[in-house]
Amino acid sequence: MRPPGVTESYRTIVIGSGSAGLFVALEAMHLGPVLLLTKAAIEDSNTSWAQGGVAAAIGPLDSPAQHLSDTVAAGAGLVDEEAARVLCNEGPAVIRALADHGVPFDRAGEGLALGREAAHSRPRIVHARGDQTGAAIEDTLAAAAGRRTGITIREHAQATRLLVERNHIAGIEAAQEGHMVAFEAPNVVLATGGAGQLFSHTTNPEVATGDGISLAFDAGAEVADLEFFQFHPTALRVPGVRPFLISETVRGEGAVLRNAAGEAFMPRYHPLADLAPRDVVARAIVREMRAAGTDHVTLDCSAAKVELDKRFPGIFAFCLGAGIDIRTTPIPIAPAAHYYMGGVRTDTRGRTTVQGLYACGEAACTGVHGANRLASNSLLETVVFGKRVVEHIRSGDGGAADPSPEVLGVGRPFGELDAGRLRALMWEYAGIERTGAGLSLALAELESASEAPHRTREMTTVAALLVRAALARTESRGAHYRRDFPQRDDSRWQRRQVFRRAD
Ligand SMILES: Cc1cc2nc3c(=O)[nH]c(=O)nc-3n(C[C@H](O)[C@H](O)[C@H](O)COP(=O)(O)OP(=O)(O)OC[C@H]3O[C@@H](n4cnc5c(N)ncnc54)[C@H](O)[C@@H]3O)c2cc1C
Repeated sequence: MRPPGVTESYRTIVIGSGSAGLFVALEAMHLGPVLLLTKAAIEDSNTSWAQGGVAAAIGPLDSPAQHLSDTVAAGAGLVDEEAARVLCNEGPAVIRALADHGVPFDRAGEGLALGREAAHSRPRIVHARGDQTGAAIEDTLAAAAGRRTGITIREHAQATRLLVERNHIAGIEAAQEGHMVAFEAPNVVLATGGAGQLFSHTTNPEVATGDGISLAFDAGAEVADLEFFQFHPTALRVPGVRPFLISETVRGEGAVLRNAAGEAFMPRYHPLADLAPRDVVARAIVREMRAAGTDHVTLDCSAAKVELDKRFPGIFAFCLGAGIDIRTTPIPIAPAAHYYMGGVRTDTRGRTTVQGLYACGEAACTGVHGANRLASNSLLETVVFGKRVVEHIRSGDGGAADPSPEVLGVGRPFGELDAGRLRALMWEYAGIERTGAGLSLALAELESASEAPHRTREMTTVAALLVRAALARTESRGAHYRRDFPQRDDSRWQRRQVFRRAD
């Protein structure tokens, strides 16, 4: 008999319709009926906005071992090597699986075209439609899911609670068109994506509010690495225009960052100047903006060695729409919140610590990114671990991830903070440069938020957990930078922080 309020039963419920959720739904439908729930339109996701591509060791001079070594180096001592080995070994096979689903990867001769990105020691970035890889994946998988009778798609339906009985998942509650609905299933997959919307400035769309982390935390699952948020140094900064990503490759082609005085400042900060690591460039920009009292610096493309409209058609067209011809006018840019390394803790089969509850994609924390993500490993992760989730459901083995020996019980805020205030607070105190005093102020405000409903329960929870983790980590590592603890990679902090709800 169904529990009260439950209207429909499924074998698998997938929450989220980015590459992780869509891929899981398409594979899991062979095991029984699938419900795919998504809180906005199906294509509203980080996936749709991804530009560069998907990393996989498929080139003749490349190997999974080389990819693993680059991934571990980027993660600043905190990469889970077992998970990263899975990611790199299984990369080539999932590229084939995506191509089998119809993703139109760009080709070069007989094989796939391979791009090169910073911190990858080999060309290994598979892309589609030039700089619109994410949209190509999203459109292809969404169209495929829409054609399958085994997948029921509900758009504009937001998961609001996981139904858990004695640490077993039983189903979910969701809000759709002002009504609460409930569904039951023995398997629920969180594929809810990232949380860039916790910050005033982000490259992420509106749906990226960290819901999966909050839902899982509420349900008693473990969450991990929440202090590690990657900020992209160069997002468009024009009032009233979304912070569109201006890819590193523009600097790779010769564009130069300049401060308010017109100085090319990066050589003062790093021997690699404009091509220094992302976090170094982001901090340098923040310091230049602070010194000049401005909200942006500029990216001067006049020295670029390519025809900008042909090499970067997407960026060229978007900037032109915002009134900037990048061939003649420097682009106003500033850093923006970009990618969440932290998330719902899973093992290499995508299992959380709650039986039947899985997580994959940006919502999950498999440990493959450690303290900093290697570019283009994130789309790969959505599919590698999405596939593993379905394999585990198919196996019928059940069970849950082993609890972490490091887990710490913590509470959640009672109230909800106004979204604008929350974003400003997080940008100011939990953004690119953090201090103990600032983080303490932010935590106090988040935890004393009133119970007035602002529809930010999930964001307030994730923000408080992020700040708590950042406050505890008294060192700088990867994307986490403490101005009061600037020394990097303190051996006492060579460990992950894992939280679970205390009550
Ligand atoms: C501008 C930009 C460029 C990028 N470029 C690259 C790149 O080149 N290569 C790369 O590897 N990565 C890139 N990334 C990162 C990458 O796009 C993401 O990490 C990846 O797409 C995440 O996929 P996902 O399926 O986990 O989540 P998403 O694609 O974000 O999908 C999450 C889904 O969950 C839904 N959802 C959220 N909460 C709820 C809820 N409560 N109820 C129901 N539905 C919910 C959302 O509506 C959405 O459909 C980029 C990201 C951005 C923003």
